Amino acid sequence: MSLVLYNTLTRKLQTFKPLTPGKTGFYGCGPTVYNYAHIGNLRAYITHDILSRTLKRSGLELRHVMNITDVGHLSGDNDEGDDKMLKSAEERGKSVLEVADFYTQAFFRDTERLNIKQPDVICKATEHISDMINLIRRIEENGYTYFSGGNLYFDISKFPHYGELARLRLSDLKAGARTGLDENKRNPEDFVLWFTKSKFENQALVWDSPWGKGYPGWHIECSAMSIRYLGEQFDIHAGGIDHINIHHTNEIAQSEAATGKHPWVQFWLHNEFLVLDKGKMSKSAGGFITLQHLVDAGYDPLDYRYFLLGAHYRSPLQFSWESLDGARNARKALLDRIRALMDKAGSAENTGTQAGSSVPAGTGADAYLKAFDRAIEDDLSTPRALAELWGLLRDTKLESGEALVAALEMDSVLGLNLKAEAEGKEELSADFEREIEELIAQRSEAKKAKDFERADAIRQGLKEKGIILEDSPQGTRWRRS
Ligand code: AMP
Ligand code: ZN
Repeated sequence: MSLVLYNTLTRKLQTFKPLTPGKTGFYGCGPTVYNYAHIGNLRAYITHDILSRTLKRSGLELRHVMNITDVGHLSGDNDEGDDKMLKSAEERGKSVLEVADFYTQAFFRDTERLNIKQPDVICKATEHISDMINLIRRIEENGYTYFSGGNLYFDISKFPHYGELARLRLSDLKAGARTGLDENKRNPEDFVLWFTKSKFENQALVWDSPWGKGYPGWHIECSAMSIRYLGEQFDIHAGGIDHINIHHTNEIAQSEAATGKHPWVQFWLHNEFLVLDKGKMSKSAGGFITLQHLVDAGYDPLDYRYFLLGAHYRSPLQFSWESLDGARNARKALLDRIRALMDKAGSAENTGTQAGSSVPAGTGADAYLKAFDRAIEDDLSTPRALAELWGLLRDTKLESGEALVAALEMDSVLGLNLKAEAEGKEELSADFEREIEELIAQRSEAKKAKDFERADAIRQGLKEKGIILEDSPQGTRWRRS
């Protein structure tokens, strides 16, 4: 396999070669758990999922690490604005850890519904404070810090490689220096490693440190945890494009200042944004769409996955309900084809779709599979990879069993869960759908009449038939379990 990835560090497509042959370390920046993930955030995690599935398909032994930010992330990435966790906790009348716990669980429910594989290591910032303190100590010992106004800062002018990832030039930064909001900073791009004098009087979570009681800056957590789980130099680091200028730039500065090793990370991958007609979807600006909104509107989470796969991760993608309809119809048609193949081939089991089986070399199906691999190895081109899957499924000359095996192998990267979805989700009969709607109407009447026993019995009865009811302000919707 020859995997080519676009490396933001070099702005080039480069053949991927792991530092240790056969093994790969990959760190993807995880969520800040002060609110639900919006569907834009989920685009980042689908990208990480496609990358890790591709690395595994190529036979590499993968260690995928993701952090959970539950402390230290301010609304401005450059130490400005509110503390996201604290503000959310205050608004909800909960503790910071309660908020973190609630939204962490919600996040994993979403990723599971999108068939995103769990990373090998999931690490919370609040559980790695000593790693952060140790790393900051090394940065301090190496002479890159200063203490001012109660906070410990990273001095970017001491680090000659500062801004290389974002193509920032130190001389330009100095020449264009504006007065930052934080007058303790020597350079506007300096950033806080450790806050002791909090801007927030009621800061909930504080720890002892050599610089006094306080809490870490946001960037240091990713440096400390990635180094802890992947070593002082590793292969791939990923996140959304918004992280290039500040977060990842600062992560590189801190890590290399601490270890003296350059480059810290070989490949930097950044996904483009999901946008609405109004502009970028943002968690802090509110008005965002969650996966649950899509489910409430009657879509399957995998329709959204399919929608995302239709665009390359480095292209901005405009969200619209019409496009999501298109994805839903296409996915439905895909499952129909898989079911037809299963019927013809006499069930997947008989055709050797179990682990370890493969498509015989030189067959028509094998040609499609090879083309699929070439597409996905070409900087994770999911649109071309999907086109190869469709080509395979439309090609009537192929032997059904082989076509099915090839399709399922492709799905090990696409993650559309084709086998289980096709087996488990035969079309419901029109009669049964009418019956469900009728029962929903009866349940709503029962609730109006305060007959909650009857309402619950209807819900339970439907659940036993594999139908889940979900109440929302727009009314009750149903989905299959
Ligand atoms: P956060 O939870 O805000 O730290 O963001 C989680 C991930 O989502 C990060 O990798 C961001 O770069 C990414 N992200 C944020 N907004 C979008 C968007 N609209 N489209 C795609 N990725 C996004
Ligand atoms: Zn990060």
